[in-house]
Amino acid sequence: MRALLVGGGAREHAIADALFRSGAEIIVAMSNQNPGIIKISKERLSCNETDVTRIIQWAREKQADFAVIGSEDPLDAGLSDELLKHGIPAVGPQKKASNLEMSKLFARTLMQKYNIPGQVRFHLISEVDELKKVISASDEAFVLKPIGLTAGKGVKIMGEQLLTKDDAIKYGQLVIEQAIGKSNSILLEEKLEGEEFTVQCFVDGTHVAPMPAVQDHKRAFAGDVGPNTGGMGSYSQADGLLPFLSAEEYRESLRIIEQVVLAIKNEGYEYKGILYGQFMLTGRGVRVIEFNARFGDPECMNVLPLLKNNFVDVCWHIINGSLDKANIEFMEKATVCKYIVPKNYGINPLINSELTVDEAGINNSGGRLFYAKVNAEEGKLFTTNSRSIAILGIADTIEEAEVICEKSLSFVRGDFDIRHDIGKKELLDRRVKHMEEIRKGILRTGHLSQQTVSSQFYTLH
Ligand code: AMP
Repeated sequence: MRALLVGGGAREHAIADALFRSGAEIIVAMSNQNPGIIKISKERLSCNETDVTRIIQWAREKQADFAVIGSEDPLDAGLSDELLKHGIPAVGPQKKASNLEMSKLFARTLMQKYNIPGQVRFHLISEVDELKKVISASDEAFVLKPIGLTAGKGVKIMGEQLLTKDDAIKYGQLVIEQAIGKSNSILLEEKLEGEEFTVQCFVDGTHVAPMPAVQDHKRAFAGDVGPNTGGMGSYSQADGLLPFLSAEEYRESLRIIEQVVLAIKNEGYEYKGILYGQFMLTGRGVRVIEFNARFGDPECMNVLPLLKNNFVDVCWHIINGSLDKANIEFMEKATVCKYIVPKNYGINPLINSELTVDEAGINNSGGRLFYAKVNAEEGKLFTTNSRSIAILGIADTIEEAEVICEKSLSFVRGDFDIRHDIGKKELLDRRVKHMEEIRKGILRTGHLSQQTVSSQFYTLH
């Protein structure tokens, strides 16, 4: 079975690994030179991952049986639709269904139309005057979100990245006038307080097969400070929940995902691929932050290595709409994943800096290694401006997995940054305590005052 993989990050290395273990012959299209993926692939096309024409031509030449699309940009470029037209079905939704990620407005209005739980109040603004009016008249902090893709850099929060109302107005104006996120408008959302978590699901158009919950860490520096990044590391618990997340709350997030999949189907599209739900557990229950139309990075590394089923079979169940017969199971293990990133990542990353990796040392420590956006040149490894290497520990408890991860990390040398605090007891305890305080109502829950709820504010059901 020939699988076309699109993408060259650590997420795609984890996907390649799962495909390889399941007996697939991998052909990969990627823009960088990921040594981990190259090692287990039969053929490689070096290209822009949104170059649909080139990828299709090559995949046909190489007679790919199916495709797995790793990241959002090729989905947004319509790669899944075009592949299918040429007889290559993909794990990765077609453009209309992938709108769940590509348009934050589509996602929010779909939830509203179908009365799906987990909604957040929002305000769609297209006029700068209205933007000024709403922000000036309110005492509340809003979250400002461009509508479309911004490579994770478009969302800004009042009180965090936007310190004054003036900053918020200026940023909103910039988004509207320069169409950041491909739209001359912006979403102002209520600011939620709580703990974030991710639930990823395999989806075949109708059926939803969930994976263990994961918590990512977006901030660049230890203690959750510094600029937002693509994600510095993540952990999962052996029972599929998280230290602050109950089984009922996890089920609530699944119910939301199931209803979203059915809503998409009702709209006339089929969602086939991975659906990633990012949620905030608040004092008032589970709320949706956003959806992604593919695995998370790093969250993919926490779950795929635990999959007990043959991944190629799972891909075909997704494609054929038969996930209900797949009997998907995950090992009951905890995981901790930490990202090695270029020095100054998130601010001014040190590129072309050499990293040396002792793969045998990592293996002997029980760790797993996934190469990300590094380049391998003449047997040497160099940083780019993106994340470099993900190291994963798997064990019965988060604490044990963290120890394995740290031990493995000592086999990577170079000038890099890393968040050592991820998965450590101190940080986990802090999260649990934070959630306890929220539940007790000690902290504010980000509720908007009545006067700011203008007629254009969509109400919660
Ligand atoms: P996104 O690009 O939608 O994932 O947003 C980036 C980050 O902004 C998320 O990981 C959250 O930490 C934060 N965020 C997004 N929406 C909200 C919200 N409504 N309330 C609070 N934080 C949010």
